Amino acid sequence: MRAVAFVGYKKSGKTTTVEAVARVLKERGYRVAIAKSMHAEFDRPGSDTWRFSRVADAVLVRASETDALIFRAKDVNALFSMVSADFLLLEGFKSVEHVPRVVCARKPEEVEELGNGLAIAVSGVLASSGLREIAGLPVVDATKEPEKLADIVKKKAFMLPNIDCGLCGFRCSEMAKMIVKGEKTVKDCVVISQKPKVVVKIDGQVLPMKDWVQELVEKTIKGMLSAMKGYREGRRIEVVIRDE
Ligand code: SF4
Repeated sequence: MRAVAFVGYKKSGKTTTVEAVARVLKERGYRVAIAKSMHAEFDRPGSDTWRFSRVADAVLVRASETDALIFRAKDVNALFSMVSADFLLLEGFKSVEHVPRVVCARKPEEVEELGNGLAIAVSGVLASSGLREIAGLPVVDATKEPEKLADIVKKKAFMLPNIDCGLCGFRCSEMAKMIVKGEKTVKDCVVISQKPKVVVKIDGQVLPMKDWVQELVEKTIKGMLSAMKGYREGRRIEVVIRDE
């Protein structure tokens, strides 16, 4: 799944921009998911849901017309891993640094404030001024040229695993900035490109393992299983350990 964040201050045109890009991508046959970062009633200090979120990892909310799942900010990986789509468009999520971003700006100075080395384009209110480029970035009015912005999103969207395993020699946020600059590609992320032979997940999150550790896990598990009736050589093995 590839992703782009649409970041901007209040009244910068984020929602309109996300909606326009999502519509074009949907028309092109892609599956699109949108995640919105918001301060809602259930975030209000003292509310029931706020109190629950202080003690639980996730809170399920059933409202009259809406259902929601509330995660603590540290669980952004878990939140995104719940989605299956070709493109994930994030509205807000300024703190997310493992995906590129479209800056929805009201004023030129906001492009630098919010770009953070991850910007691939500028849109939002500022784009209606007729400006075509700022700080080397294309400025696209999503209300007039949604196709053009969707093309940029399609070409430049990516999402790194955000696990900071260090196997590439960098943090995910550093790698993301280098990919945006064109100095690296997503294939330089070892976790994405190598498709390791042994994958261990803890609560759905990949546990980074060097080659020799993978080999150790593989040999240990195969060694134990090979003596058992029903074991078949050359098959995919899945082991789930529940510690509940
Ligand atoms: S190898 Fe991939 S997951 Fe690991 S730190 Fe680098 S970019 Fe992040």
